Formats: sequence, structure tokens, C-alpha cells
Amino acid sequence: MAFNALTMIRKNLINCKLIREKKSGKLLLSEYMTHFRPEQETCPYCKCKGNCRIHGYYSRRLIDFVNGRPLVARVRIIRVICSCGATHAILFDPVVPYGQHSLFFMLRVLAEHFLHIRTVEKICEVFEISLPTFYRWKKLFASHRQDWQGSLASIETSLRRFLLDLVRKTSFSDFAVRFFSLTGISFLQSHKNPAPYQRRLKQADSFFQ
Ligand SMILES: [Zn+2]
Repeated sequence: MAFNALTMIRKNLINCKLIREKKSGKLLLSEYMTHFRPEQETCPYCKCKGNCRIHGYYSRRLIDFVNGRPLVARVRIIRVICSCGATHAILFDPVVPYGQHSLFFMLRVLAEHFLHIRTVEKICEVFEISLPTFYRWKKLFASHRQDWQGSLASIETSLRRFLLDLVRKTSFSDFAVRFFSLTGISFLQSHKNPAPYQRRLKQADSFFQ
């Protein structure tokens, strides 16, 4: 059987308050990968545990905000293949699918805006992002806030409060898992996953185990 759609196994590494996580996305990934054992994975498609092995690697950009400036790193993403034929990318909280900037980076940009730390123009200059990118992230954040909480009267106030709630949650990963379960996409992911993956996701009750 051929599996062409992108599928992924999410790894939730931020089991603490987001504001307490001081490591960069790249460092979190590197630390996790030293302990990664593909044979311990559960296939999201056939739900079998113990039948996955490493299928290959691909490299992607991950932009973090380190020491007050953007830092472009390359990270290695592992793909595993199950004996059923399905392949899965191993993705982590700091990596937003289809995006180049880390989750920490995006949330920091939004925090500086909602907490009025810098003007939009200054944020774009310091973080080296374009104005359209900034407004796309803000719109995405508002959209995901609405997916999560429903419509609220005061948008600006609720966005600021939502962001503060997020960074103070006891475990950010608990939120990430529940958001993914609710919407079928990762938090702040801008593109939907391919349709076959969405269908398979519904069958995968043990997806996060
Ligand atoms: Zn399988």
C-alpha cells in the first residue's frame, strides 16, 4: 500500500510553562533526538507499537530568537516507516508545520505587540519579518483563539489575555495536544494538513500515546 500524504507524530516537549522554557527550539530538538527510539513509537495509522524504524531524514530551517536577534538554524527532522507502509515525520512543539519560524519566535512577536513593548514597525525591524508576515501571524493567532474559545466581544483584549494565558499554562504541551485534537492542525500552523491525513487522524485514537 502506498502512503503519499504527509503524516506526523507530534512530540510534546514543553511540559512546563512556556515562559519557563528558556532553551531554543533547536536545542530542545537536539536533546530529544539523543533519546529517540523509533521502535517505541505507535503508528498513528495502524496503531501498532514497535513496528517503526527510521526511514530517512530531511533538513529544514528553524528561525529562533536568541540573544535579542533572529538566529537561523537548520534542524534535522526524522521520518519513520511502519511495517504497514505508512511513513511519519517526527515533529515537535517548537516546530510549526509549514512555517520557518519557531513557535517561541512567533509567540514572542505577538507578545511584544499585545503587551505594547514595541510598535509594529519596530517589531518587524527587530525580528526581521515583513509587515504582511506580522499581520498574517496576528490574524492566524486571532483565528486560532476563536477556534479555541469561540467568539468573544472585545477582540484586542481577548487576544492579549489569551496570549498571557498561553504562556502561563502549567503545561503548554497539554494545550498543544488538545488544540491539535480539536482542529486537526498544530497551533499557529497556517496551512491545513492534506485531506487523507485528516481522515486518518480521526481513526487514530491513540495518536498521542
Ligand atoms: Zn503502521
